[in-house]
Amino acid sequence: MSNPIVNNLQQIQKTIPSHVRLIAVTKTVSVEMMKAVYEVGVRDFAENKLQEAINKQNELRDFSDICWHFIGHLQTNKAKKAVESFLWIHSVDSLKLAQKLDFFSQQALKDGIITTLPQVCLQVKILPDQNKYGWNIDHLYQDLSSLQKLTFLHFRGLMTILPLGLTSAEVFSAFQEVTNLALHLRQDNYFSSDFDQLSMGMSGDYLLAMEAGATMIRLGTIIFGDR
Ligand SMILES: *Cc1c(COP(=O)(O)O)cnc(C)c1O
Repeated sequence: MSNPIVNNLQQIQKTIPSHVRLIAVTKTVSVEMMKAVYEVGVRDFAENKLQEAINKQNELRDFSDICWHFIGHLQTNKAKKAVESFLWIHSVDSLKLAQKLDFFSQQALKDGIITTLPQVCLQVKILPDQNKYGWNIDHLYQDLSSLQKLTFLHFRGLMTILPLGLTSAEVFSAFQEVTNLALHLRQDNYFSSDFDQLSMGMSGDYLLAMEAGATMIRLGTIIFGDR
């Protein structure tokens, strides 16, 4: 019995080089479908709403090698739950949120609720856009020294979501700017040498993102169909 979504996924997997991590974005996707893609090797799942994610985590608790990623905007009052439920948080988009996550990470480590530091990406916006979350470059530089003080987060790289309506050339050059920004931050020793992750690329632009250096691509629609 072949599941069309699984076939689809296997076609996509063939186009992705091994150094790029395919993260299945499963917002609104059923737990049954998640199990089906798990069966063919997917271990990285991303959600953008905390409660939906926690419900699915409960249903999938026997699948203990799933790596959960949070990719949505987080209100600071949900920082504690996010730290306790996700190894990866891609969408750290303000100093205030980072500080809350750091605080609750310290607590959760002390209480034994988590055993490794949360792996976080800083969400940046290279182009001004209606997507109001994330740092622009100037503001990120202003916050760097404060971010560096947060020792209970493991800063792993940058994440970006591009505005709609760009040409391919504009998409590629925006992704390249994010790649270069991460490189500069690493070279200037703002973060450790494993500040090497670029979470960029969705169904519509992941090929360009990979060309520009993405290490993590977040795919929903192209695997599961329209939401
Ligand atoms: C929904 C979502 C995705 C996946 O988008 P598709 O276009 O369905 O692949 C990726 N990243 C974030 C932050 C999302 O919210």
